[in-house]
Amino acid sequence: MKIFNTESGKKEEFVPQNPEHVTMYVCGPTVYNHSHIGNFRPPVVFDVLARLLRREFPKLTYARNITDIDDKINAAAAEAGVDISVISEKYTAAYHRDLATLGVLPTDVEPKVTEHVEQIHTMIQELIDAGHAYAAEGHVLFSVSSYADYGSLSKRDPEELLAGARVDVAAYKKDAGDFVLWKPSADEQPGWDSPWGRGRPGWHIECSAMAETHLGDTIDIHGGGTDLVFPHHENERAQSVCAHSGKQYVRYWMHNGFLSFNAEKMSKSLGNVLLVKDLAEKVPGEVIRYVLLSAHYRAPLDWNDDVLTQARNSLDRLYGALRTVTSLDASQQDHIPDAFMAALHDDLNTPKALAELFALAKQLNTSTDHETSQQLKSALLQAGELLGLLQHDADAWFAGDQSEADAATIDQLITERLQARADKDWGRADEIRDQLTAMNVVLEDGADGTKWRIDSSDANLSSSK
Ligand code: AMP
Ligand code: ZN
Repeated sequence: MKIFNTESGKKEEFVPQNPEHVTMYVCGPTVYNHSHIGNFRPPVVFDVLARLLRREFPKLTYARNITDIDDKINAAAAEAGVDISVISEKYTAAYHRDLATLGVLPTDVEPKVTEHVEQIHTMIQELIDAGHAYAAEGHVLFSVSSYADYGSLSKRDPEELLAGARVDVAAYKKDAGDFVLWKPSADEQPGWDSPWGRGRPGWHIECSAMAETHLGDTIDIHGGGTDLVFPHHENERAQSVCAHSGKQYVRYWMHNGFLSFNAEKMSKSLGNVLLVKDLAEKVPGEVIRYVLLSAHYRAPLDWNDDVLTQARNSLDRLYGALRTVTSLDASQQDHIPDAFMAALHDDLNTPKALAELFALAKQLNTSTDHETSQQLKSALLQAGELLGLLQHDADAWFAGDQSEADAATIDQLITERLQARADKDWGRADEIRDQLTAMNVVLEDGADGTKWRIDSSDANLSSSK
């Protein structure tokens, strides 16, 4: 499998540090309001990559964080007169609902910054001890001049970075480019006690500390949107490398291109922010997901009034082909065509992979041999599953009935929750329960397994695991 590595600027063969256990970290949302559709490009793209890695390697640990300490959260909480947890929990639940709408499977770990303040302190202290950071006036700053390789991820001139923006440089900074690891909180602001006074962490140190806690010093893949290359990832890299005596932080840096709306940046001030929950009132979540996968992840993707109709038509064609055969190949064999896998192996080329689904659908539509048709249908379903598509019952799709697909997603979540409980990962198990609650699913744990039902008065107990 080849992956384009931002650091080398080239497509490289993917060789994990430990082929028995691949690790991946993706920067998650800051939960102060609803994430817009652009914010969901990374989780959808890296969900496909996670599905692919789980198929090809014995184990993947995939972490995507929740940033629940942030000045925007503080501002939203102050405005509403509530604790920051009220804001962050509300928007974490909304984020989970949107992920479920888009068919994004849960990650293995979903670390929250508020649960890692101790690890953040430890890492900051290590950086100070190693001479890479200094405390000044209640702040702790990373000293950019202490790390010779600073700037090489984002290909920026270290001299320029050192000088930074020369306007309004705070007096406590040694170099204008130095960035904050810890900053003081005023009495009325949320804060945590620390060796440097009561305060809160800077944004970049969070990810370094959470990645280290859950994935170790060196991680295989680190992803996020292209806007994060500088300064966020450049700074994460500097912190982690320097806290770990020069050890490599990330083997493959992956960045998705931006989503625009009618060729404009999606932003609140322009009033063109699209939300998953609003789009999902018009079309099934799978249609939205299809749009997000219709362009190569590194390319820009422009959202306009036609994309949903086009995606809906494309999915109708694929489901139409699936509907021509009622039974499946019972052999359980892997029928995924090589060309489809080759597309995904080529730096996650999802548009090419989708084209291969259409090639299968075309064959299926013209096939006259029953056995071949069954195999083609299996191939389409198996390949579709890797993209997180085509898992509805085809008749239900055309009837506009999503319950079949929801059942599949719910079963999957319950399986993940059972695994988390078996691993004694109670936090994760609770998170999945919350995600299910957000989908109106009620779980009933009993002696014979977990049963679920949709929380509406006339629904019956359904399915069990
Ligand atoms: P944020 O909550 O702004 O930190 O964004 C969460 C993730 O979404 C980050 O990985 C961003 O790089 C990514 N992102 C934000 N806006 C867009 C966009 N318009 N298109 C694609 N990715 C985006
Ligand atoms: Zn991050």
